[in-house]
This record gives sequence, structure tokens and C-alpha cells, in this order.
Amino acid sequence: MRGTHSLRPSKSLGQNFLADGNVTKKIVAAAEINGDDLVIEIGAGLGALTSAIAEEAARVVAIELDRRLIPALRENVSEYGNVSVVNADILKTDIQAMAEEATAYSTAGLTVKILGNLPYYITTSIISKLLEEKNPASSMTFMTQKEVALRLCAESGSREGGAITALIRYHCEPKIMFHVSREVFIPKPNVDSTVIRLDMLKEKPVSPISEALFFAVIKAGFGQRRKTLRNALSGLGGLSKEDVGLALGRAGVIADRRAETLSLQEFSAISDAISSMTSGAAE
Ligand code: SAM
Repeated sequence: MRGTHSLRPSKSLGQNFLADGNVTKKIVAAAEINGDDLVIEIGAGLGALTSAIAEEAARVVAIELDRRLIPALRENVSEYGNVSVVNADILKTDIQAMAEEATAYSTAGLTVKILGNLPYYITTSIISKLLEEKNPASSMTFMTQKEVALRLCAESGSREGGAITALIRYHCEPKIMFHVSREVFIPKPNVDSTVIRLDMLKEKPVSPISEALFFAVIKAGFGQRRKTLRNALSGLGGLSKEDVGLALGRAGVIADRRAETLSLQEFSAISDAISSMTSGAAE
């Protein structure tokens, strides 16, 4: 394993370090990193992936939360002149500002790509944050637990789907790239992993009147996924159960359906029906 400064990996921070150079190269190849890219790496750990990225990219900003790892991380990537190590929490990081700062420095015109062997305990929170906030990336390549990867890349309207699946389908084209055995990590996790790539769409598949309400409908629908839509959405925008029934009728969606069966187009139609009813009420 790489220089560790004899650190004990923290289970609670999801520290399973990659210990196979072929896999790190394969991840970088899957992300199609090249000399025009600024790569923001999430959870750099001891730098196994960081080095492989630095070989191909113009610049790398490597974010790592655990302060204990920073000296070893810096040392392990010291041979590369294009890596900046940042000790920060990705959930509190403004990615847009970080990319602007890095590109304004001397590398303007670079394509931003995000990459990471994600800490598994916050995979969904990280991806939701990156999709909900302003984000300049053209693609995001992540290693996650295998079952989570399959859910993230599920078709919207399928049983495995959740709010995050719909959010991903709204912003990205998701792809399963390859599976990775648990044997290539130290310490060895209890699950296998999968690398996925989310290519950001230039044009969204639907254009809801209010994006905020569209997201709220998706979240409320999946928040109580065993409930019918009429029940799960009641209260949204101050609407009663009867009003929700009316909005669903206007959207052409049967009120007894559940969120997991809906397409993005149907979510958008429901949110537009609610938008028009609530703006009408305010007049
Ligand atoms: N990239 C390294 C590799 O592939 O060997 C480490 C990957 S390990 C699965 C995930 C890393 O994310 C750990 O080093 C952990 O400390 C870091 N991490 C955990 N929570 C984080 C957060 N909120 N922000 C940034 N990094 C975090």
C-alpha cells in the first residue's frame, strides 16, 4: 500500500483504500480524463486515484476530509506538479467556486470533471448535492457500492428507482462502467463496488414551470413511497388531498399510482398542474 504514516483507516469515514494500480487506471480511463481536464476528486484518501488522475489531467484538486491523512496524501502526490490538496468536507464545499478559482489561476478553458471513490456512508448525499447546486462539471465518475450503483442508474419508472434516480435522469445520462471486486481494497469491505459515469445533459429531458416544485414533488412522492400519490403529495404547496386529486387529474395521472411508477414527464406534468393551481389561488 502507499505511504500511510501508519494510520488506522476510519470505518466511520468510509475509508477503504484502493490497492490495485490497474483498477485506478481503469477508473481514470472510464472517466476519459485527458490533458484538457480539471479534475475535482472527492475523498482522495492516500492518493491512489489522485496519482492516476494526475498522470492524465491538466490539473487535479483533491478534496479529503480527514485531517490525519493530509500529510501522507501530500507526500504521495508530491512528484506531480499539477495536484492541489484541499482539506475540506465535500458536503460543505462550493464546487462551482472551487472550479472557478482553479481555472482562473492559469488553466482557463479546461473541462471540469468530477471523480471519486466515494465514502459509501454519504454517497447519495454527495450526488444529490452535486446535482442540486450549481455545478460546472461535464461528467462525474464515481465508484459506489454495487447495489447503490444499480439503483442510481435505474430507469425512472422502475421499481429500484428513488428520488435520486429521478434527479439523476433529469440532469444526466447515467452509465454502469464496470464492477470491482472487494478484494482490491484495504481494508476489505463487505460488498463489491461498481464504477458509474454520469454525463451531464446539455438539454434537460423535461421543462417544468418551477424546477423547485418539480424537485419537491419528486421528494414528497418518494418520501412516502408506499403511499398513493394522492396521499404522498397532500400538503405540498398547501394543497388538500382533494386539490392534489384534482392536480393529478389535470396531469392525466391516476391518483392511486405510486411515485416509483412515474416517468419524469409525469412528474413534470404533476408539478405544472400544482403550479397553475397554486398561482391561480394567489390571484
Ligand atoms: N480515493 C481513495 C482511494 O480510492 O483509495 C480513498 C477512497 S475512500 C472509499 C473515501 C475517502 O473519502 C476517505 O479517504 C474518507 O476519509 C473521505 N471522506 C469521507 N467523508 C468525506 C467528506 N465528507 N468529504 C471529503 N472526503 C470525505
